[in-house]
Amino acid sequence: MLQPGLMMDRPLLVSGIIEHAAGQFGDVEIVSRETHGPLFRYTYAQCAARSRKLANALQALGLGPGSAIGSIAWNNHRHMEAYYAVSGSGMVMHTCNPRLAPDQLIYIINHAEDEVMLFDATFAPLVKGIATHCPKVKAWVCLSDAANMPALEGLTGLHCYEDLIAPHPEHYDWPDFDERTGAALCYTSGTTGHPKGAMYSHRAIVLNAMSGCMPGVIGISALDTVLPVVPMFHINAWCIPYATPIVGARLVLPGPRLDGPSLYELMETERVTISAGVPTIWMALMQHVEQHKLKFSSMRRTAVGGSAMPQALIAKFRDDYAVEVRHGWGMTETTAAATMGFITPKDQNLPRDQQHALLAKQGMSLFGIDLKVVDDNGATLPRDGVSQGELMVRGQWVMSRYYKSEQSALIDGWFPTGDIATIDASGRMQIRDRSKDVIKSGGEWISSIDLENTALQHPGVAMAAVIGVRHPKWEERPLLLIVRKPDTSVSREDLLAFLAERVAKWWVPDEVLFVDTLPVGGTGKVQKNELRKLYGGVFS
Ligand code: AMP
Repeated sequence: MLQPGLMMDRPLLVSGIIEHAAGQFGDVEIVSRETHGPLFRYTYAQCAARSRKLANALQALGLGPGSAIGSIAWNNHRHMEAYYAVSGSGMVMHTCNPRLAPDQLIYIINHAEDEVMLFDATFAPLVKGIATHCPKVKAWVCLSDAANMPALEGLTGLHCYEDLIAPHPEHYDWPDFDERTGAALCYTSGTTGHPKGAMYSHRAIVLNAMSGCMPGVIGISALDTVLPVVPMFHINAWCIPYATPIVGARLVLPGPRLDGPSLYELMETERVTISAGVPTIWMALMQHVEQHKLKFSSMRRTAVGGSAMPQALIAKFRDDYAVEVRHGWGMTETTAAATMGFITPKDQNLPRDQQHALLAKQGMSLFGIDLKVVDDNGATLPRDGVSQGELMVRGQWVMSRYYKSEQSALIDGWFPTGDIATIDASGRMQIRDRSKDVIKSGGEWISSIDLENTALQHPGVAMAAVIGVRHPKWEERPLLLIVRKPDTSVSREDLLAFLAERVAKWWVPDEVLFVDTLPVGGTGKVQKNELRKLYGGVFS
């Protein structure tokens, strides 16, 4: 007969994180870029105290356990306080992506039944446009002090955050409840149909945040200063705002300034050691650093994911700037990272380019996560690095069904990701494509990610996107869209010759188009559905 464990049954709750930080690392600093410009500084102890004030203020507004509180906000200290106040008091923190189309934003606010919206002044025009369509929202709270409130005359229920929390005490007894309770809600980007909600439990968040601190994951300790560029409005900023307080790392929040020069300046002046973001952010940063012949004086690691990190950029970070790259994979439905790639001891003696190629894969599953790839019939494919099929994931921070859906999202207990992947013998997973982006040419598959990665190795290429375009004979053929680096003149013929030397002959795109920009969506990914709309018929 199984024996019961005789340990205390203490739940894993988000409130425990901030109170731990207040108690153990009370004087460790949080630096936050205010929406109106200056840097604001305070400590974990002050953050905890203000979270408790906000919890009291929300209660005074008549909200209670299970209420949903929305946010449309940058990475800043008030948003961080809300993360803890809302979830810690048993409410649900619904982070909204401001880059969603307004009708999608209205949809998710109504679907989540948000009763309060916290928003940054930047988004005042957005709020003005959507407020009358969100009947359940009774308070619109601008994350600001009185001096910097935007003009929003006529908005019913408008509050200034600082005025709202000011009268309330710093004392609040965080309630204890089941760790499987919903803590935070985030909707998928909804490129097809309505966005769908993933409700993260306290347990999932705490476990993922602890995992993120581990040396082989993001690897955060009290010695670090961490700058999450990845937004708090999507997938919990990869749980970094929950991870740094666990270990007492200094936290730097960049607010609205996410351009290369601003990020570089923040990294240097605040002596940032670890940062995290999507590849498009790092491309912009690297362009700035290269153009001005700068160096990183404190940065030692960057965590990257959200879309494939090009091998050429990995090489640049590692070889030219001595910044280590951690490349991970995750999705809205997996709370934050589910895999992470790093150079293991057995890889250390490989030539550098082979190491970069390993890091261009999406890494190994984290402890707590299982991965497999399956064929069209659901049969598990071998871990040989070649057999590709749909990636299936299960684990302690993987969603089981979408918010308000009666139906399980799982197949035999596994979440089907919609990503096409391989797993090699050492467990490294590689995303070959989104299933809807993979190019089917003459019955064979061409990986758009592989082609983009190869094109990005050309020194004249700033951004690359490959889409499958309808073709009368082959069903689909690849079309390559290129944004040139400033002051370069790479030609169609150069690029096709460059690719022909590096990929199978039948993978070489049929056409190359040069464009000024590529459409980038709310989460920093190139919007291939937009490209398909524009260019999907060029061969027919
Ligand atoms: P989202 O839910 O918006 O974060 O999107 C999740 C999707 O982003 C995944 O299913 C992948 O298609 C893609 N993705 C995330 N991380 C990576 C990565 N490191 N490389 C390639 N694709 C990625």
